[in-house]
Amino acid sequence: MTTITVLAGGIGGARFTRGLLQHLAATEPEAAVTVVVNTGDDMWLDGLRICPDLDTVMYTLGGGINEEQGWGRPEESRRTSAEIAAYGRGWSWFTLGDLDLATHIVRSDLLRSGSTLSEATEFLCRRWQPGARLLPMSDTPVETHARLAMDADEHRAGDLIHFEEWWVRYRASVPVTEFVQVGLESAVPAPGVLDAIRTADLVILPPSNPVVSVGTILAVPGIREALRSTPATVVGVSPIIAGAAVRGMADACLHTIGVATSAEAVGLHYGSRAGGGVLDAWLVDETDAGALPALAAAGIRSVAVPLWMRDSETTMRLAADALALGARSGGRLS
Ligand code: GDP
Ligand code: CA
Repeated sequence: MTTITVLAGGIGGARFTRGLLQHLAATEPEAAVTVVVNTGDDMWLDGLRICPDLDTVMYTLGGGINEEQGWGRPEESRRTSAEIAAYGRGWSWFTLGDLDLATHIVRSDLLRSGSTLSEATEFLCRRWQPGARLLPMSDTPVETHARLAMDADEHRAGDLIHFEEWWVRYRASVPVTEFVQVGLESAVPAPGVLDAIRTADLVILPPSNPVVSVGTILAVPGIREALRSTPATVVGVSPIIAGAAVRGMADACLHTIGVATSAEAVGLHYGSRAGGGVLDAWLVDETDAGALPALAAAGIRSVAVPLWMRDSETTMRLAADALALGARSGGRLS
């Protein structure tokens, strides 16, 4: 039986994993997939614990995602948040629909009753049946904050604000000097995370944000080391196509850490395992085929294939390409 572990953020990781599961259902139904999900975007909002990436993955794999938005539920209403706003509470820049709120209420109740985030996630997934095991990267709260390079509304230059405020309220348009993962030093990987990396046949870094999604997961003490030492093959899929972030504003995150917005630069940023990094192999888009020699020179086996996840067919083909490249790149699949 093939076992695959994916380290995912929200929309990019969720869509890739959905295609992977559809491809496996048709070709290798006994394969088992674990998704280790970034929790650095989590926050408390009006007494509720919001886990944006876990919910995006759970809803996407479980058939409950708003496809146009890429997050939240379809056919939503906003009556509850309008009532909260009438009390002068709530965060005007963050939308929480009524259906989505039910998820946050149930999760917050479980957490307050003493459940870990892993246990709460498992409980929520009993309803959604995502077809993969979903693990938060850590049960310890870790929150990504952005340090502002200039004043913005009530914030002053140098202030740290929650990543979601920078991303959603400011659309990543206010320059930041660094990202700080608050709580990271004392965080430990959630139960099952290190084993899922160590015992997998293949580990995939899907086209998720390399800085604040995959980067945050890799920063949890022990996870990067597990990836560096696993006998599994590690294959990544570029979230950058032709110098652009495809969907979203990942370029602003890359700029902050001094990495160019290109498939080549992100591949080199992850680095080859032989050279101290985390990748054995890397998929770039056909339009980025010019990056292949530099990637090969850095010890990363790379191929150029279509990377746009336009629909289930193109996404399934991308997943098949990732599996095929993994099989050709050593480790347990070859
Ligand atoms: P978030 O947490 O919702 O921001 O989602 P992720 O971190 O999982 O992924 C966001 C990234 O996915 C974006 O910054 C894009 O670079 C990438 N992405 C989105 N759609 C596509 C696609 O169709 N193809 C590829 N290769 N990357 C994509
Ligand atoms: Ca996210």
